[in-house]
Amino acid sequence: MAACKPRTILLNPGPVTMSERVRAALTNEDECHREAEFADRMLDIKRRLCAVYDETANDYQAAVLTGSGTSAVEAMLASLVPDDGEVLIVANGVYGERMATIADAHGKPATLIRTEWTDPLPLEAVAKPLDQNKTITHVATVHHETTTGRLNDLAAIGHLCRSHGKPLLLDAVSSFAAEDIQWAAWNVLAAAGTANKCLHGAPGLSFVIARRNALDDIARSNARPKSLYLDLGRLYAAQKDGFSPFTQATHVAFALQEALKEFEEEGGWAARRAVYRSRSESVRATLSDRQIRPLIPCDDMSSMLSAFRLPDGLTYEALHDAMRAQGFVIYAGQGHLAPAIFRIAVMGDIRDSDMARLLPALTDSLRTA
Ligand SMILES: *Cc1c(COP(=O)(O)O)cnc(C)c1O
Repeated sequence: MAACKPRTILLNPGPVTMSERVRAALTNEDECHREAEFADRMLDIKRRLCAVYDETANDYQAAVLTGSGTSAVEAMLASLVPDDGEVLIVANGVYGERMATIADAHGKPATLIRTEWTDPLPLEAVAKPLDQNKTITHVATVHHETTTGRLNDLAAIGHLCRSHGKPLLLDAVSSFAAEDIQWAAWNVLAAAGTANKCLHGAPGLSFVIARRNALDDIARSNARPKSLYLDLGRLYAAQKDGFSPFTQATHVAFALQEALKEFEEEGGWAARRAVYRSRSESVRATLSDRQIRPLIPCDDMSSMLSAFRLPDGLTYEALHDAMRAQGFVIYAGQGHLAPAIFRIAVMGDIRDSDMARLLPALTDSLRTA
């Protein structure tokens, strides 16, 4: 009898390996997105998304888009920064810089402050424009910068936003549901997230969670963003009773609803963070034993992602292929980091038995690749 082939485990930062329960939901009976049953489902999903954090359960609302995480970030920036506003974007990686590209595409006045990708967010560089530039209306940044695995320390920047009365727009795509978001203390007006990272759903739906009064304002406003599909105010208004102006990814919604139930049963974001941390600690310890150096200090990394420097003489492709042959998909670096690093994310339905295979697979691949 042939041995059962182990499942392939995704160690890339989304999409993640789904649980059988979430995968099964994808094959629910087909639903029309204009029927009451799907509208009820969407209302339930929006309520559960806002309940992921206690702080957002009452004063915030969710709008759900059919599109990847970038569509949510784009809808947030295009709709919440007015054309006569100005957004200060603070970036230390690909996703922060992408926010500036988005602002530019929508003709939003923007100031980009960027650092080396391996550096923390530059607090001094943010304080000055906030003190001196009276035209800045919003601040935007990334919570977990997936480029390097850094969990940006938002306490100080959030405090600046609060003391200057500037709303913070957060790309929380790779942190939502597994890291602490201090909505009030950081003055968070809105955050963008996705179904297929820390929530363990399928790719295809993303969302913006924003203060209800701001959503009501943009829904009523005559100033519309330069996008029909990414008009958050329009989407929010239509979705108040669960209906969406455009076809939703219905099957992905079945999976997201199931993933949210699973998430709640497993104890919420803090429990998920604890699970990720313990997996990441095993990976970091195993690689440290093999003299593999982390790209940034491990203490600065998020719970779910680690970036490591490739040792001399080892290419990413060789390491990737050796791991792939053992049933694990690791992830390359982006931009100028591509030839120098590899990344390992531990989100998704990874079981103890998978971890028990992963650690020797890493050691083995480093030896033979
Ligand atoms: C994954 C990710 C995104 C969105 O990527 P998509 O490919 O559009 O889903 C945005 N920001 C961060 C920080 C991410 O990790």
